[in-house]
Amino acid sequence: MSKLSLVVPVFNEQDTVELFYKALEAEHQNFSEYDLEYWYIDDGSTDHTMVEVEKLAAKDENVHYVSFSRNFGKESALYAGLEHATGDFIAVMDVDLQDPPEMLPEMLAGVSSGEWDAVGARRTSRKGEPILRSWFSKLFYKLINAMSDTHIVEGARDFRVMTRQMVDAILSMQEYNRFSKGIFSWVGFKQKYLEYENKDRVAGNTSWSFWGLLSYSIEGFIDFSRAPLVLVSFLGMFSFLLALIGAIIVFIRAIIYPETSVFGWASIVVIVLALGGMQLLSIGILGRYISNIYLESKHRPIYVSRKEK
Ligand code: UDP
Ligand code: MG
Repeated sequence: MSKLSLVVPVFNEQDTVELFYKALEAEHQNFSEYDLEYWYIDDGSTDHTMVEVEKLAAKDENVHYVSFSRNFGKESALYAGLEHATGDFIAVMDVDLQDPPEMLPEMLAGVSSGEWDAVGARRTSRKGEPILRSWFSKLFYKLINAMSDTHIVEGARDFRVMTRQMVDAILSMQEYNRFSKGIFSWVGFKQKYLEYENKDRVAGNTSWSFWGLLSYSIEGFIDFSRAPLVLVSFLGMFSFLLALIGAIIVFIRAIIYPETSVFGWASIVVIVLALGGMQLLSIGILGRYISNIYLESKHRPIYVSRKEK
């Protein structure tokens, strides 16, 4: 019998851990030809999440967990889960039931037929989400797909079922700065997305703040595109061109109207400010790439585990 492993990152999810388990046990009858294995990855929760997880683990031998020594972020939790999962097929799911378990049978059918290496889920609507957040996420997908060679599917969730082979490819990517949306696409393979309507959380609150999401999307740009660096060179070329035109104008004007040769302190201030701004922006962008190189070069572990079962 083939086995499906569920990789479930949890961070302060004491109210959803058991609801998730119950929903999955109920859904399991629709794909009972597979054994089921749970991998709860506790991302350094500070509430009673681990109490709930250990309760389940004590009563069901198919429930396993890795508990981090602190909050390392969902990306690290996904990595740990994929690393521990032993199934022939591996699913990544949020614990808050925003990823509908009813989609699992169809996803499994897609990968087990051998036609697909991964079947994921794509949200077609974002109802129930703040407008500003949807707007920024639209902008994000437009920009990153214009800039990156790796195509990021709009609205794609991390929710997906993958083959062992694809998971091994993902695990072979040892980078410390992890951006799963890019990694899932970068490894290639045959991937399909099922569409569904956005759902609300069953309980608890999202742990993503607006700034958290913004910094996550900047990570995406830095990890999967060199376009910001190209932009910097264009800024440099553009300002050089401006300076050249300015110099010519000043020169000609000084010849034609020598009596007004001291003029334009306002334009000088504007130009100095513009150039200074461009330089600072460029240094900032360069700095982001360099800081990523710095972090990667330390070869720090992607997570530190405190307790596992
Ligand atoms: N999560 C995590 N570490 C974090 C933040 C979130 O493991 O630092 C988990 C969380 O418990 C949930 C999943 O990632 O299972 C998605 O989080 P959330 O529902 O807060 O995000 P949203 O659905 O709002 O994008
Ligand atoms: Mg959620």
